[in-house]
Amino acid sequence: MKYLMCFIIASMCVLLLSLQRRAKRDADKDACPTDTGRRRFFSLSTNVASNRTVEGIRERVKSGVAIIENKQNAHSRNPIVPAGAVSYDLFSKKCNACQRCVEVCPTHALQPKISMDSLMIPQLILTQNCCLWDCTKCNDVCPTDALQKITVEEKTDIKIGRAVWLQKNCIAMTDETACNACEIACPNGSISMLQNGRKRFPIINEGNCIGCGMCVAACKAAPIKAIYVEGFAEHQAI
Ligand code: SF4
Ligand code: SF4
Ligand code: SF4
Repeated sequence: MKYLMCFIIASMCVLLLSLQRRAKRDADKDACPTDTGRRRFFSLSTNVASNRTVEGIRERVKSGVAIIENKQNAHSRNPIVPAGAVSYDLFSKKCNACQRCVEVCPTHALQPKISMDSLMIPQLILTQNCCLWDCTKCNDVCPTDALQKITVEEKTDIKIGRAVWLQKNCIAMTDETACNACEIACPNGSISMLQNGRKRFPIINEGNCIGCGMCVAACKAAPIKAIYVEGFAEHQAI
């Protein structure tokens, strides 16, 4: 009973904190840039040829084109944690829930988790906001090594998850509106547009995607985004 009361009180505190952070996040709509201008570093993503096919792209992308999921809404099966954490399991063992990383996160994507087993342990919520590809602020302030110190260069080689395209939600598919906001936002050119008749739709290079969620933040589909990030149980090298 005592534990339940503590949990309820702590949950209410977290809820208040989350509401306060949501207000801040909504006020800061430019936290995730919609054009990083870094597409040129990956040759596949530019200048779509009209005869480009999925198979053609698959041949050119050694690591494989991401599977297209036929869902309307999706949530990551694994909690997502920043690069330098290695895995959520390891991270949650080392983290003392001090919230320093949450406080410094410029996009407010890092938020405390509300659950009995890991109350206040932060995780990345990449549904509206992103983890900036060139930011290591949370790593810099973490006092316990739950988030190891990493450089921006090291960060860009770490995959914390993979972007998944939800075909049914994509406005480039559902009407004939031209949209390539996700392609423009991707910091490492992991998204290219495939021409199919009068429509152009995004193809994700899963091997190159680091799971930053910048495409998700930029996605124009509403009310439900057409891309989400599926977190990895253990981070991978690119
Ligand atoms: S790296 Fe930066 S943007 Fe990403 S979670 Fe940490 S503080 Fe937030
Ligand atoms: S999650 Fe992947 S596809 Fe989306 S912007 Fe980041 S690197 Fe690009
Ligand atoms: S930004 Fe969203 S709606 Fe636009 S093409 Fe990309 S996935 Fe589709």
